[in-house]
Amino acid sequence: MLTIKNLHAGIEEKDILKGINLQVNPGEVHAIMGPNGSGKSTLSSVIAGKEEYEVTEGDIVFEGENINEFAPEERAHNGIFLSFQYPVEIPGVTVTNFIKTAINETRKARGLEEMPANEMLKLIREKSELLEIDRKFLSRSLNEGFSGGEKKRNEIFQMAMLEPKLAILDETDSGLDIDALRIVSNGVNKLRSKDNAVVVITHYQRLLEYIVPDFVHVLLDGKIVKSGGKELALELEEKGYDWLKQELSV
Ligand code: ADP
Ligand code: MG
Ligand code: MG
Repeated sequence: MLTIKNLHAGIEEKDILKGINLQVNPGEVHAIMGPNGSGKSTLSSVIAGKEEYEVTEGDIVFEGENINEFAPEERAHNGIFLSFQYPVEIPGVTVTNFIKTAINETRKARGLEEMPANEMLKLIREKSELLEIDRKFLSRSLNEGFSGGEKKRNEIFQMAMLEPKLAILDETDSGLDIDALRIVSNGVNKLRSKDNAVVVITHYQRLLEYIVPDFVHVLLDGKIVKSGGKELALELEEKGYDWLKQELSV
């Protein structure tokens, strides 16, 4: 599904990613861990196509197609979802209306007609039930006065509705209280399937107790320095990133 080859990227004069290789297949959950400043958010931004970062070398191939030059919207339309790190507030636009628009824009980009209203309602009902989201929440203004947990709930709802092939969840170190943690992990676990893949980016092992990854990769100074199974996350939690730095003498 996603193949990243020798990816180098950065901003202006600063190299941040220094040769990333990563292969994500349908049905897999990958965790990317690493200390603060190692380039985790940059990697997710570059996969999603954020324009402030420049790819200087390497390829991002999604479903057999090189997407290096694709705009963020094109990537989203092709099925790549990036959780919002800093969600915008849109007063007057409800959670439901926002997602309806997003879905219909995606369909339009794929040459499809708008989703019929009854089908949309059915989808909203199905996904909100799955994620235990109540009606009141759906009619609130987007992100306006949302708690951390509610922002997460909205994000996961968006993910559920858009049914991306590849979801990248950049869980910033702050703001993931136990409530949010449960919302994110329940949502991801309910949406896992053999056809989609999830990349979870996290500083802490804690999230991975709930979302059990198939693969764990450690990012240090812009490179994946170690990959393994879920036990690698436990080892890191126990020994810390400094242990790995020493072991690799970087
Ligand atoms: P992480 O998510 O692992 O904490 P980031 O990808 O946010 O790491 O950052 C990696 C490095 O790149 C850091 O040194 C950070 O300061 C720098 N960096 C990332 N984005 C920018 C930016 N837009 N402008 C300047 N420096 C940036
Ligand atoms: Mg950071
Ligand atoms: Mg980050």
